[in-house]
Amino acid sequence: MDLDLAGKRALVAAASRGLGKAIALRLAEEGASLAICARDAERLEKAAEEIRQRTGAEVLAVPTDLTDYEQIKRLVRRAEEHFGGVDILVANAGGPPPGPFLELSDEQWQAAFQLTLMSAVRLAREVLPGMIARRWGRLIFSTSVSVKQPIESLILSNSLRLAVIGLAKSLANELAKYNITVNSVCPGPTATDRMKGLITAQAERQGISYEEAERAWLSDIPMGRLGRPEELAALVAFLASERAGYLTGTAIQVDGGSVRFPL
Ligand code: NAD
Repeated sequence: MDLDLAGKRALVAAASRGLGKAIALRLAEEGASLAICARDAERLEKAAEEIRQRTGAEVLAVPTDLTDYEQIKRLVRRAEEHFGGVDILVANAGGPPPGPFLELSDEQWQAAFQLTLMSAVRLAREVLPGMIARRWGRLIFSTSVSVKQPIESLILSNSLRLAVIGLAKSLANELAKYNITVNSVCPGPTATDRMKGLITAQAERQGISYEEAERAWLSDIPMGRLGRPEELAALVAFLASERAGYLTGTAIQVDGGSVRFPL
């Protein structure tokens, strides 16, 4: 299927590695121009250069801390000035840390709130005026299967990502009249640095080896393997395309079957 993203301008947040980078690469392969961000300028520019080399796409790299609203405003302003607008927003960010409920402080809850919910709120708020004026847009919130089935020890993710789903569903209703679709994607365990960190943390917590902890994760996945970042990216590229013009308000998991509920 030709997704035909040529001429579209995408902003992919937290894209120096992992899921964000895979999504950025896939959108560029489909013909989109890209603005990408992450905190580490050097690593971000390296990712941008790799995407330019592999796809020939125009990629603007804007170092940004997604917990800082002024930096988010600057990111969107730079992208809009450079490309003349943002048609596709992929609101992704780093993940909140794992930890048992009784050991998580208010400060950790506040930090997770800023990173997980407020980054999504602020990115959407900044790109929407342009999308509404042009009567076309795609908002794609990257969350987690934790919104469908809580993940052990990830209580910050289990709690705060549901707020992102509520935000996305409300925006889908509000923005349909402007030809803007709003969807959430929900990755299951996928082979990235974040996943390695979670497996390492579990191994340390339980006093077992990395391999044993990984086997425990895999035993919960009917497909018997971790996801590949490009498998989530393929869904995002479809949602970003004209082909998905009647698809809005959904939250779709890419998880090898690990969510056990029927819907
Ligand atoms: P990752 O750690 O491999 O990459 C995270 C990216 O976020 C990096 O580019 C990093 O620079 C950036 N980042 C982190 N904090 C930032 C901040 N404050 N400002 C700007 N950029 C920031 O993680 P990943 O596996 O690609 O996961 C991406 C998101 O998806 C996370 O929220 C994660 O919790 C979630 N998720 C991941 C999985 C998985 O299995 N990998 C599953 C479900 C959900």
